[in-house]
Amino acid sequence: MFSRLARPALSKCMSQRTFTTSSKTNAKVAVLGASGGIGQPLSLLLKTSPAITQLSLYDIAHTPGVAADLSHIETPAKVSGHMGPDELDACLEGADLVLIPAGVPRKPGMTRDDLFNTNASIVLNLAKACAKKCPQAMVGIITNPVNSTVPIAAEVYKREGVQGWEKRLFGVTTLDAVRANTFIAEARGLEVAHMSVPVIGGHSGVTIIPLISQATPAVSFPPEERKALTVRIQNAGTEVVEAKAGAGSATLSMAFAAARFAGKVLEALAGGEGQVECAFVKSNETDSSYFATPILLGKNGVEANLGVGKMIEYEIQLVSEAKEELQANIKKGEDFVAQNWS
Ligand code: NAD
Repeated sequence: MFSRLARPALSKCMSQRTFTTSSKTNAKVAVLGASGGIGQPLSLLLKTSPAITQLSLYDIAHTPGVAADLSHIETPAKVSGHMGPDELDACLEGADLVLIPAGVPRKPGMTRDDLFNTNASIVLNLAKACAKKCPQAMVGIITNPVNSTVPIAAEVYKREGVQGWEKRLFGVTTLDAVRANTFIAEARGLEVAHMSVPVIGGHSGVTIIPLISQATPAVSFPPEERKALTVRIQNAGTEVVEAKAGAGSATLSMAFAAARFAGKVLEALAGGEGQVECAFVKSNETDSSYFATPILLGKNGVEANLGVGKMIEYEIQLVSEAKEELQANIKKGEDFVAQNWS
């Protein structure tokens, strides 16, 4: 059932760098939902990238202010602000990479799936605009529930007749790997900058599956501690939601994670080799039609899916336990587009 692809050492590939000077020059990056809790710090980080010459910010509110503010920073990227649906096409025209954090975040007591009703139609409409205006762009979807919003965007791309979307559509799950690196390095007193833990599956609760057995450097934990770490990584988003007490979910760490993802994509677009990041993509690696695994990025998006690798029994069990929820989330997204397409 699981592929056992030989993989390059993920530790090197899944580095924690965000931007390098060799990243693609002249890249245009669009952020949809740029005025939000994630959108603003993400746009700030992107503005510091030497790879980006045009940073286009779209939201239904406040983008002129965010764009004016960022435009004063002494880095090369030109910043433009686009507000409201009439200005969406101009934001997307010629984009190489589109990042989508538009939509509502969780409040305490909510699951990511509780966001579905509001965020599904936001993603449907934004994906439709991307499919029309920049069908060749790489698209990173941050909006939750990622397990459903990626299938929503995929269904839109299929209906719009976009070819090869499977290689260019990503659910951004980088934050799960960022958290896993932090918590596991802390638990073992290791230097976090060198820690690399693949996280596979999906992006909600039990569908988040850290592969601690594949961490580099290698770490080992007694079963109870491994379980506790796994559960902490799965619930880390809720930790933040509760600490923020109604003021939203992870924004700053998410902005960092999305910037790291963007940096890898831009580096790969520029011809940089060995760029690997875990992401939720169309997949044949397991029984679920979308699944996060380490992805080797290339000029055309997904160059190779590096698969789940060799898992221990505990991790195989986690994948099996995630299947039902993941498949239901995927189906919910696909059904939404079938019922709301016009
Ligand atoms: P936020 O409410 O602070 O910001 C959302 C922004 O989206 C707002 O500026 C809002 O005006 C904008 N928006 C709403 N509808 C829009 C539309 N139709 N077009 C364009 N923009 C629109 O929320 P946030 O904290 O930035 O979170 C955004 C999303 O990211 C949420 O769905 C949240 O659950 C998700 N999230 C994902 C991850 C992940 O790991 N993938 C992590 C944290 C949060």
